[in-house]
Amino acid sequence: MTDREQLSVEPPRRTGRAVDVATQVIGVHASQVFHDAACDELTDVAQAQRVLFVSPYDAVDGGYQPCPRCRPDP
Ligand SMILES: [Zn+2]
Repeated sequence: MTDREQLSVEPPRRTGRAVDVATQVIGVHASQVFHDAACDELTDVAQAQRVLFVSPYDAVDGGYQPCPRCRPDP
């Protein structure tokens, strides 16, 4: 073969990012608390009050506290 081996073979649907839906947490702007996406307490929270974080670490970095009920720890 020559050096013309091109990038025609790409891996199928690799995101290449460590963003996993399972690690996402949702912060509540008013209370500065973040929750697991499935937490019951989020049902009363308006979309406009929600802040999506890709991980609990991100939420803590943003000054949010973990919810004591759903305990969204990594
Ligand atoms: Zn919660």
